[in-house]
Amino acid sequence: KLILTINDVAKIISNIAEVIEENKQYLTDLDAAIGDADHGINLDRGFKAVKEKIPQFLDKDIGAILKNVGMVLVSTVGGASGPLYGTFFMRMGSIALGKKAIGDNDIVAMFEAGLSGIKERGKAQAGDKTMIDAIEPALNELKKSLEDGLKFNEALSIAVNASYSGVEMTKKIAARRGRASYLGDRSIGHQDPGATSAYLMIKTVANYVDK
Ligand code: ADP
Ligand code: MG
Ligand code: MG
Repeated sequence: KLILTINDVAKIISNIAEVIEENKQYLTDLDAAIGDADHGINLDRGFKAVKEKIPQFLDKDIGAILKNVGMVLVSTVGGASGPLYGTFFMRMGSIALGKKAIGDNDIVAMFEAGLSGIKERGKAQAGDKTMIDAIEPALNELKKSLEDGLKFNEALSIAVNASYSGVEMTKKIAARRGRASYLGDRSIGHQDPGATSAYLMIKTVANYVDK
């Protein structure tokens, strides 16, 4: 069974910040095609602020870290994705409140609560060409694989593949939420930036857990 400590969580968050920085231009270019060319810039600004704040929370608990990550993202990312990713991390934080370590079941419950938060806040569903198209298939596959008795790292690596398929799928559909929805069918053929950043984050967690 997998156990993640406060230090693991802090390291994963800082790895996510690095991956976002590396993909800043890529995410912004995707957003240039169907949005306003700022997704990578927005997220990089947010995760840089997050990275600076993390050391202040290492003596607290995982819930406190994640809640603060969420609050920093809400106040620094902006756009549609700021409040949505912010909600995602804050909801995960509420599940992990007071915990110094989390295991398989906690992680699934956190992921589930985070996704519910995004759906409540943004009123989008799978198939609307948003970050949900990368997150929901990952969560579903993770749960299914764990039920089938796979180890957490194996289950998560299957979840990453499902998330990638979700990102690919966004190319085939029209956006029904967010800025890209203004384009209607003209958004077809383009990959959703938010689904792409969500996939990158999930993949970063999986890479960490695999080591
Ligand atoms: P903005 O569109 O305000 O500039 P960003 O460019 O940072 O914000 O983020 C755009 C991404 O946000 C989209 O690619 C999409 O994945 C996601 N998004 C937009 N609206 C919603 C929503 N209602 N629910 C879930 N995700 C959304
Ligand atoms: Mg944008
Ligand atoms: Mg914007």
